[in-house]
Amino acid sequence: MRHRTLRRGALFLILGLAVGLAACDDEPANKAVGVEENNSSSNNSPVNNSPSNNAPVNNNPANNNPVNNNPVNNNPEPEPITRDAVIQLEQLTAVVTDGETSAIRFTVPEGAVSVSISLVGEDRTSWVIAAWEDPSGEELVYDGWVSRDPGQGQLCLSCANRISVATGASAALAPNNQDVTLVPGQHTLRLYAFTGGAFQPVSPASGDVEVTIHAKVLPEVPTEGILDLNLHFTGAGGWDAEKARNDPEFLAVLDEVRALYAQVGLSLGQITWQDIDPAYRVIENIFQDDSDLQELFTQSEGNVANAVNLFFVEELAFGQAGQQGFGVILGVAGGIPGPPLLQGTTRSGVAVAVDSHRGLNAALHTTIAHEVGHFLGLFHTSEQDLGFGPQLHDPLDDTPENDADYLMFNTGSGSLLSPWQGRVMLSNPWVRHASTEEP
Ligand SMILES: [Zn+2]
Repeated sequence: MRHRTLRRGALFLILGLAVGLAACDDEPANKAVGVEENNSSSNNSPVNNSPSNNAPVNNNPANNNPVNNNPVNNNPEPEPITRDAVIQLEQLTAVVTDGETSAIRFTVPEGAVSVSISLVGEDRTSWVIAAWEDPSGEELVYDGWVSRDPGQGQLCLSCANRISVATGASAALAPNNQDVTLVPGQHTLRLYAFTGGAFQPVSPASGDVEVTIHAKVLPEVPTEGILDLNLHFTGAGGWDAEKARNDPEFLAVLDEVRALYAQVGLSLGQITWQDIDPAYRVIENIFQDDSDLQELFTQSEGNVANAVNLFFVEELAFGQAGQQGFGVILGVAGGIPGPPLLQGTTRSGVAVAVDSHRGLNAALHTTIAHEVGHFLGLFHTSEQDLGFGPQLHDPLDDTPENDADYLMFNTGSGSLLSPWQGRVMLSNPWVRHASTEEP
């Protein structure tokens, strides 16, 4: 019997979510896509699945062209979503040979309030920022941390800007705490790739990795922002896209999420609703190389909006590790943060286990807000004290330790967000800002 402890998301920071996606021949069912503002029936609208796994974002501040994200056929085009505050600084393929890349240089513009870096490569390899140095020589991520930091190659606890590592696709957002200043000018990055980790031997790996670097440029640090969501339904909870968008109970869940995020100035914007193959209703294995969680997240490919993907499933299981009494998984995020503005990667989303909330003192809206918090870059305020090694806390000065009233506490049952947690979320490229929108 499983312990009925509540666990969410970043459990893998301790265990290492060493998941990779094996090739799968399953043909996903046609997606039905809807947009909240559109009341016309949209069942069976075929999605224009672009083979590219990143929705192209035209975010050059020099022009105001809306995002070109291939609208759904036979469906009114959603309002264009602009990301004028976000500039793509680099998009390149780096070659990792025996674990190492040559230096990648990029220029952080004046007025940048955040920089995010996404690494997307082979599914079973961990792609890592090995070193990140700013123009003044400060190391946001210091060379050699992978072998020296106690985070098992999964997390750099001793880096100025904390980073977490994931297989397949990982990302970093800076600054993510009060001790890091983002200095304009030329930054230097080196990458590392490995297999293993999380209590297994680490071996350097080789391969190509897609590197995408964004900066968010605003006149000042944002105090409010808008998050768009793509909602994906498997039938879990009795919800398909059409039912959910008309169900007062489901809409109330979204309103509760809105209420939680309102405390840091984050609001929900456009919402798309779509059905995916019911085969994803039960995710058998969030770990290991054959994880169907990774496959679930790739169902976001071709999504029309630059919105965070949320997947409603019945259950998220540990696979073979399920016998070890880790508890019930209520939700899981594709990364801390997930890869910004990339659709279709093995980490492009957040999954929530609807049925697992039944009979527990756990609210669906809290899990959603908590997991999306991870996806936007928030760590647990305090990890569970495992009784060995130091207890882990987030790098933020304004989140108290071991306070279960906080949304990002490891049980995920609280509700509070701190100002710095708000700043991290609002500075993520997924969040847009009304002041920078076209009229
Ligand atoms: Zn969590």
